[in-house]
Amino acid sequence: MRRVYMDHSATTPVRSEVAQLVTGYFTETFGNASSVHAYGRDARKGVENAREQIASLIKAKPEEIFFTSGGTEADNMAIIGTVMANRDKGKHIITTQIEHHAVLDTCHYLEKQGFEVTYLPVSDDANIDLNQLKNAIREDTILITIMHVNNEVGTILPIKEVGQIAKEKNIILHVDAVQSFGKIPIDVNEMNIDLLSASGHKIYAPKGIGCLYLRKGIKLSPLFFGGSQERKRRPGTENVPGIVGFGLAAELAGKEMEAESIRLTMLRDKLIDGILEKIPESQLNGSRTKRLPGHVNVSLRYIEGESLLLMLDMKGIAASSGSACTSGSLDPSHVLMAMGICHEIAHGSLRLTLGKINTEGDIDYVLEVLPEIVEKLRSMSPLFNSMQIENREECSKCTLTK
Ligand SMILES: *Cc1c(COP(=O)(O)O)cnc(C)c1O
Repeated sequence: MRRVYMDHSATTPVRSEVAQLVTGYFTETFGNASSVHAYGRDARKGVENAREQIASLIKAKPEEIFFTSGGTEADNMAIIGTVMANRDKGKHIITTQIEHHAVLDTCHYLEKQGFEVTYLPVSDDANIDLNQLKNAIREDTILITIMHVNNEVGTILPIKEVGQIAKEKNIILHVDAVQSFGKIPIDVNEMNIDLLSASGHKIYAPKGIGCLYLRKGIKLSPLFFGGSQERKRRPGTENVPGIVGFGLAAELAGKEMEAESIRLTMLRDKLIDGILEKIPESQLNGSRTKRLPGHVNVSLRYIEGESLLLMLDMKGIAASSGSACTSGSLDPSHVLMAMGICHEIAHGSLRLTLGKINTEGDIDYVLEVLPEIVEKLRSMSPLFNSMQIENREECSKCTLTK
């Protein structure tokens, strides 16, 4: 049976160049990067080279990159670290309702500690209103944290404009760029970004490695204590194999970005058009144009996302419903809810995220299999028969294709 992996926003395979490099750092260049001997110096060289590779992808300086265990840790470190270092200046944080849980749950935690958080609403295509952002800013606002690309629906947020506003008001800006890093251009200076989170496993490097960009001069209280690694911002023996793998993956992503984004945008649009054309009562979630290359999220009315995933899996297709993190719960995705999509339609959402390993043949296969599965599920669905007639009015706003 054909197997098609279309869940690249959840994780990616480690690319072979990276796997090969990493293996060498497990078995041969295995030194502790803090050791003075040759083994240690070789490991240190690998770490510092990776720091340069990563900095160059976002136009930062190498000394502004701090390695972490991944995107979640970078988000926690950025948010908790800046508000703790600036709590004499205020206690107000601005974010959005559609952030990843690594940001949202951190903000909830800080609310319990006495900080106040504004969660900006979003439009029906998951974008923010810059005037709402301006109006939310208070005298005591110390941090704005807004994602670059939404992981569930793929919308690209206007970070450059957000950066302009943050700069004018002299407020620190953190950006969760885990979904955009290595896929679309980022320039931390042009975009006025002060802190940025990225993760290795979303760009064909191993899991458990990520980084935080911290602009020179921005104060950050560490979350961990116990050594002087990463200039005391993130102590603990460096994950050298992960770091060198992340560095190489970042460099290769930069080199291939333009060609790969053209290719993935073409495949993405073919998949979106095919689904909307072949499946009645389907709609695209997120922006049609301000959209990450390779990111598809559709709602298929009268369908239950989880059963759809199981049926696709039986046909060898790996996808997700909403996001991998929310798949475990029965609540509809917080992102789709914030976009104003009604429960029933949010439950029938399907995320297909493309990457390096996907071909046009994969798109054709999904476009052949998916409509058949949907038809089968709909014919068995009690929702289909009753809701088609009764609730059509109520949900009509959601069935518009954007
Ligand atoms: C995957 C992801 C994270 C978490 O990164 P990990 O490295 O898996 O901890 C954070 N934010 C966004 C937007 C993501 O997609």
